Amino acid sequence: MAQIHELSTELTNQIAAGEVIERPASVVKELCENSIDAGSTRIRIDFENAGLQKITVQDNGSGIASDQIDLAFMRHATSKINSERDLFNIGTLGFRGEALASIAAVAHVEIVTSSNNQGGVRAVFAGGEKKLQEDAPSPQGTKISVADLFFNTPARLKYLRSERTEILKIVDIVDRLALGHPEIAFTLTNNNKILLKTNGRKNLRQDIANIYSRHLAERMLEIDGTTPDFKISGLISDPDDTRSNRNFITLLLNGRYVHNYNLTQAIMSGYANKLGPRRYPIAVIKIELDPVLVDVNVHPTKQEVRLSKEKELERLLTQTISDVLLDGQQESLGLNNL
Ligand code: ADP
Ligand code: MG
Repeated sequence: MAQIHELSTELTNQIAAGEVIERPASVVKELCENSIDAGSTRIRIDFENAGLQKITVQDNGSGIASDQIDLAFMRHATSKINSERDLFNIGTLGFRGEALASIAAVAHVEIVTSSNNQGGVRAVFAGGEKKLQEDAPSPQGTKISVADLFFNTPARLKYLRSERTEILKIVDIVDRLALGHPEIAFTLTNNNKILLKTNGRKNLRQDIANIYSRHLAERMLEIDGTTPDFKISGLISDPDDTRSNRNFITLLLNGRYVHNYNLTQAIMSGYANKLGPRRYPIAVIKIELDPVLVDVNVHPTKQEVRLSKEKELERLLTQTISDVLLDGQQESLGLNNL
């Protein structure tokens, strides 16, 4: 056996990047989440060639001070948590301090940013190293451009799916982020063609109309329910409006889009036998809870979380949905006036 030796920073960064940055859509997700955490009200995402040639995310958020740029791109450096207590009380989408370091390890990155309306700064990173930093004009906020993704990790490039699939994954993640943040105006373009535009006017039904369809959005039913630990709200489809898979169910836990099989099942149970075989509803459900009840630190991409009191939440979802559908049914039969 060869001697044991420590790996170079460049190599450890590439290894770690593999966990967070799987494909172009991961870059879009991480950059948008940073923009959301920075308090932006407008986020614009442009990409070319399925994101492999270029992805640019521009926001009007807090910006980064010029003396913080190096830290922003350093692994495990973050402005979002300080202590162990914070780790179990996460109020932001990011906290691991990995995304920018990971992206910079596997792509060419340019950042132009300005904070507190001070003069802007521009920096360029490649293969994990800073190549340049200079004063540059910038509006308040941050613009990050990621070019030549996976240029130095050919195995990852090979593993990517067709251009169409990668584009659909980018669209899907931006759709979910937009549904989770109706207070932010999102614009998404591919080769200058607009794929999504929301207006940031806090109107979920309008956003669903933009993202899915107006007809569907108009017929969706409002839900609203609480227990001492959870508050749920959102819109669910009429049982006649269904899809052939569960990808149209969006669960937002304190604004974070998450995958959770049990919660999805609980939603389906609320529809009981009103759905046909292998038919699934469309739903956007916002779940608010004390952050101490959720452990986000399960997976690097944070799309899987662990929940305390999950059973209580499942019951709340099923009950609230089944009540709303019953009301809807009675209304359409004119029974509510009896
Ligand atoms: P994390 O989001 O987990 O903190 P990142 O690597 O994604 O880690 O970002 C590192 C830090 O850079 C963040 O904590 C934040 O302070 C800063 N940052 C990144 N993107 C932005 C942005 N768009 N606007 C303002 N600050 C940002
Ligand atoms: Mg982040």
